[in-house]
Amino acid sequence: MIKIVKFGGSSLASAGQFAKVGDIIRADESRKYVVPSAPGKRNSKDTKVTDMLYDCYATAEAGEDFKLKLKKIKERYDSIINGLNLKLSLEEEFKVIAENFEKKAGSDYAASRGEYLNGIIMANYLGYDFIDAAEVIFFNDNGEFDAEKTNEVLSARLKKSERAVIPGFYGAYPNGVVKTFSRGGSDVTGSIVAKAAGADIYENWTDVSGFMVADPRIIDNPEVIKVITYRELRELSYMGASVLHEDAVFPVRKAGIPINIRNTNAPEDEGTLIVESTCHKPEYTITGIAGKKGFVAVNIDKDMMNSEVGFGRKVLQAFEQYDISFEHVPSGIDTMTVFVHQEEFEGKEQQVLSAIHRLAEPDTIDLEADLALIAVVGRGMRSTRGTAGRIFSALAHANVNVKMIDQGSSELNIIIGVANNDFETAIEAIYDIFVKTRL
Ligand code: ASP
Repeated sequence: MIKIVKFGGSSLASAGQFAKVGDIIRADESRKYVVPSAPGKRNSKDTKVTDMLYDCYATAEAGEDFKLKLKKIKERYDSIINGLNLKLSLEEEFKVIAENFEKKAGSDYAASRGEYLNGIIMANYLGYDFIDAAEVIFFNDNGEFDAEKTNEVLSARLKKSERAVIPGFYGAYPNGVVKTFSRGGSDVTGSIVAKAAGADIYENWTDVSGFMVADPRIIDNPEVIKVITYRELRELSYMGASVLHEDAVFPVRKAGIPINIRNTNAPEDEGTLIVESTCHKPEYTITGIAGKKGFVAVNIDKDMMNSEVGFGRKVLQAFEQYDISFEHVPSGIDTMTVFVHQEEFEGKEQQVLSAIHRLAEPDTIDLEADLALIAVVGRGMRSTRGTAGRIFSALAHANVNVKMIDQGSSELNIIIGVANNDFETAIEAIYDIFVKTRL
């Protein structure tokens, strides 16, 4: 049994957190490969080391004195090293980093040092091998992740180490220059390592006990989702629920390796298991609720629209011309509505409207702004009658006016459009009916 364990920044923010991580790893001998992030925030006013590094490098790049900022970063690491009583000095490493900053080695290089140094500490603390990600994770010359080369080199390298630490977040171009993934990219590294190691499971340790059924900023103490499929996760993440980097799913999904989101501060919690498919029935019919505010509905009317072939294409062409992506397109006999992001649309509004007039010659176009979309997601909906009925009666009781309904044929989700002002009330009502009262 091989488990890959990735620890996020808050799990590694201090010596105390490192000690918890050490206990977790030692508690299960199949936790063979460890992917650390850089030290995160120790409290809400703290700064992540990655952000300190970006800032320090910007100072270096501007030709100003960056030494004090770099010293502050070193102090973060030293306090971890000392707190763990390790016989390790990062003096030489910091000399090299300072030299490379002077040489303007790039902000990716700078940011990557956060996980690189944390990886060195972690390997020393655990007595594991250290594998520099720049030697095993590759990007091509266009900056795209090179999955094939990485998998070949990394799996061969892992075979040589029974236990190892591989820092997250970065890799290298073919010429060896360091490149990072986008922010939060250590999740992606964990997934890549899991695939290369042929792992049985990818454990992603963070500071929450998994995916919540609904946003904890709206619902007090929401229930945790025990098992979720990749497709459900994608629907919920797209609508704003975030715990995991979006790209982290691909390597393991293709290899059929489940991801387990776990909480470093509550290791006894089972967390959320993300799987390709499952016969595990969700407890509440729905798996989760997520949503976003800030949409505009563009309502287009034309008599006899139903018989005009190509009308929809012409309307969508107007949006395409101005590089605006649409979210949903519910339609009636003589009406068609296009939901777009308000932010994207606002600046180009009049051009888009005149393009629709020119291309599709509608009778009227009417705009409705400040709308929110809510996705109610669940594989359990397919086999349960009355889900939509329950949602809409809950919304009616909560006095929420539903502006739009869209259910995909996969029956995996129901999308509901409401006014921005009703957003929180609507989510509460849906959560209550399925989770609290389990009606
Ligand atoms: N340390 C990097 C960041 O702050 C990457 C990560 O934590 O996954 O984005």
